[in-house]
Amino acid sequence: MSDSTKYVYRFGPTGTEGAAGMKNLLGGKGANLAEMCRLGISVPSGFTISTEACTVFTEKGKAHVMAMLDTEVRQGLAYVEQQMGKRFGNADDPLLLSVRSGARASMPGMMDTILNLGLNDEAVAGLARKAGNERFAWDSYRRFVQMYGDVVMGLKPVSKEEHDPFEVVIDMLKEKKGVQLDTELDTADLKELVARFKALIRARIGRDFPTDPWEQLWGAVAAVFESWNNDRAQVYRELNDIPQSWGTAVNVQAMVFGNLGNSSATGVAFSRDAGTGEDLFNGEFLVNAQGEDVVAGIRTPQQVTLIGSRRWAELAMVSEADRAANYPSLEELMPEIYQQLLHAETALENHFKDMQDLEFTIQEGRLWMLQTRNGKRTGAAMVRIAMEMQRQGMIDEKTALERVSPERLNDLLHPIFAPGAIKAAKIIARGLPASPGAATGQIVFHADDAEQWVHEGKAVILVRQETSPEDLRGMSVAKGILTARGGMTSHAAVVARGMGKCCVSGAGAVHVDLKARVMRVGDQSWAEGDWISLNGSTGEVYDGQIATQEAELSGDFGALMALAAKYQRLQVRANADTPTDAAVARRFGATGIGLCRTEHMFFEGERILAVREMILADDEAGRRKALAKLLPIQRADFEGLFRVMDGLPVVIRLLDPPLHEFVPHDDAGQAVMAREMRVSPAKIKMRVEDLHEFNPMLGHRGCRLGITYPEITEMQARAIIEAALNVRAEGKKVMVEIMVPLVGTVREFNAQAMVIRKAADQVFQQRGETIHYMLGTMIETPRGALVAESIGRQAEFFSFGTNDLTQMTMGFSRDDAGKFLPDYLKQGMYEQDPFRSIDQKGVGLLVQMAVQKGRTVRPEIEIGICGEHGGDPTSVAFFHRAGLDYVSCSPFRVPIARLAAAQAALAG
Ligand code: PEP
Ligand code: MG
Repeated sequence: MSDSTKYVYRFGPTGTEGAAGMKNLLGGKGANLAEMCRLGISVPSGFTISTEACTVFTEKGKAHVMAMLDTEVRQGLAYVEQQMGKRFGNADDPLLLSVRSGARASMPGMMDTILNLGLNDEAVAGLARKAGNERFAWDSYRRFVQMYGDVVMGLKPVSKEEHDPFEVVIDMLKEKKGVQLDTELDTADLKELVARFKALIRARIGRDFPTDPWEQLWGAVAAVFESWNNDRAQVYRELNDIPQSWGTAVNVQAMVFGNLGNSSATGVAFSRDAGTGEDLFNGEFLVNAQGEDVVAGIRTPQQVTLIGSRRWAELAMVSEADRAANYPSLEELMPEIYQQLLHAETALENHFKDMQDLEFTIQEGRLWMLQTRNGKRTGAAMVRIAMEMQRQGMIDEKTALERVSPERLNDLLHPIFAPGAIKAAKIIARGLPASPGAATGQIVFHADDAEQWVHEGKAVILVRQETSPEDLRGMSVAKGILTARGGMTSHAAVVARGMGKCCVSGAGAVHVDLKARVMRVGDQSWAEGDWISLNGSTGEVYDGQIATQEAELSGDFGALMALAAKYQRLQVRANADTPTDAAVARRFGATGIGLCRTEHMFFEGERILAVREMILADDEAGRRKALAKLLPIQRADFEGLFRVMDGLPVVIRLLDPPLHEFVPHDDAGQAVMAREMRVSPAKIKMRVEDLHEFNPMLGHRGCRLGITYPEITEMQARAIIEAALNVRAEGKKVMVEIMVPLVGTVREFNAQAMVIRKAADQVFQQRGETIHYMLGTMIETPRGALVAESIGRQAEFFSFGTNDLTQMTMGFSRDDAGKFLPDYLKQGMYEQDPFRSIDQKGVGLLVQMAVQKGRTVRPEIEIGICGEHGGDPTSVAFFHRAGLDYVSCSPFRVPIARLAAAQAALAG
């Protein structure tokens, strides 16, 4: 870097050097302050020291940077002095400064703010005289010494148990005086505090508090740069892929005061409603106060606008007379200032073309804007603001699509806790956010109890160690599901997401005692019937009943989805096993079913008995007898799906899970089976034990079942084809895709394909009609991906089963990973849960390779993915880039995936 590099950029009413486009150099805050000045908005003058200076600081240290910046900072300060008509270090009327950090992206862990810099024992007297308010001056000084002592000089608690040392001093004085609030301390008390603070700093740090304003300034600037390299900031950067080389900027700005009497005030405002998205200017302010007073919540802030004030009064049950007298809006109290604020708000929103979050201070009748940034907002507000701005012509369609973060659509699709109710709620445990939404209900520990209680009109939360297919019906009637074990792709998580039902899984602290019918966390316990609440979006478990509210799918949501359809290339199908789920998926815009797990219907009604009979049969004849009972049931299931999906493709997968999941493990269940099959209970018990496997996930499952028992495949193929013909006869368009699971060698696929084709041909012959169907395979074993070329020559489509592909590639089980994955993620072994977001570098490589191999031998091959990753926006973008035709995900994630697909297309 040459000596001529410019490091300091001024901003103010004239001569502003920065601009919004210079975020890399000036950080977000600095760039926006400069931009506001360019727009003619009143901002206290100041200057920004660039992020490049931070880089030099990191390399060469404080002394070097001070020398390097000296001339520019002095010139910058002279500029501020001239603009504000005050002098830095002038004891009679001192210019005071704020010093703040500001990186490109806002970053927790860094030094935030020093206020009132430039005060010392002489200047405080000058400030008091000038303001005509001695208490104000000493309160400012007290705050400055405290902040500076903490963040610049490093006087912090030494252990977790210790309180903030400055607060301890304040508390001691308050106790001595017998007062409760800081505001009850008088000038003499504040003077006493400053003296005590300084003594404390001397004693603990071994240095005097700096009285020279310049020394104060350089100390603060260096502290900002140093904070870029502190541990917390480094960890945050590593986790968020923020390069060390970015550096932070430092903003040095003239102080303005909102606590100089009744013509002063401070507040925050939003150009639109951050909660609902309504296009309504709103905000809060406090007369004669500083920013931190608004946040501290000791005084009731007043509303900026009259309409906001009236709405507030209605909610707070304050009469109009009381409101107007005691809590008037800024619009009523300071009409001229209000008009200026309104003007600034409109100008800023029009300029940045997004909802703005503003900070302002009014000092003795003059308005100053301190900050503007794009405001944070709820999911509902995000959608409404994007779509309204697009309709208002402020932003184009592509920008509107990019404005909504797909994951936040969850807020709109599921129930949420009533905002008032959640504030007082107590968290008792945390698990994985397995399936979003809020739920409240009474604890039950068994699926059949859930059914019974719901039948009696109660709301229940099903609490289990883990769930199994046997719990399906109980899960479907419960408000929510809590499991102590299991990860993001555990049975509970996958099924709950499919149902759009709230689920917290793997809450390790929860101990389920089925015998005693209690749930324990630490030394507390909750019995059956006690109320708990779950937040499936965060993984939090709450004590007691908390009111929930349904989220509404507004018109803006529909408009957003229509836009997504216009831009997305990657299609989105749904994983759905029942006509109800399929209908939901269709409503959300799924363009097909990407995965029907046939076995998910096996527990419905009476059919489980036939399923068990098939599994427990001794020989082929016994199995065929049971399969004959299952055939009409499966056929009817498929007819239901085809009907709902009229005109759209439906992928039906052959039987996949290990059979032991379906058999009764308890004596009572085995006795029922024995009666049904007319054999002894001992025989049933023996067969069940035979089915035991050490590693069922790697055992007798997937196409291995159909290879061993081709009659199962035969029955399923027949049921699918007959159903297709039947529904076509009703005048519907049926598009069938039959999928073979867990293929590792083309021979497995060929063997199953032969059975399927033979069964289909038989049906065609019997019925005297045919129907087109596609025959494809899942790619979900690493070997399947490696030999995709040979499989692709035979299969008409691929569907990546990324759940299995992940567990087999990583070598850890999706059901057991919950035991160590949290530690792994904490320690950064993997950046993300690979069951949630596809491991692009490893598993993703297999996907890319298999796509390429498949397309080489069969250019028109249809390729999708139906693992849980199909609903994860980052993974969706990856699959778009990998050139897949579609992703398939739970019905409730379809809108999320559609938006993610559109965004991926826009990103190119
Ligand atoms: C998969 O493995 O990704 C898949 C979709 O199948 P399942 O989860 O049923 O094993
Ligand atoms: Mg699988």
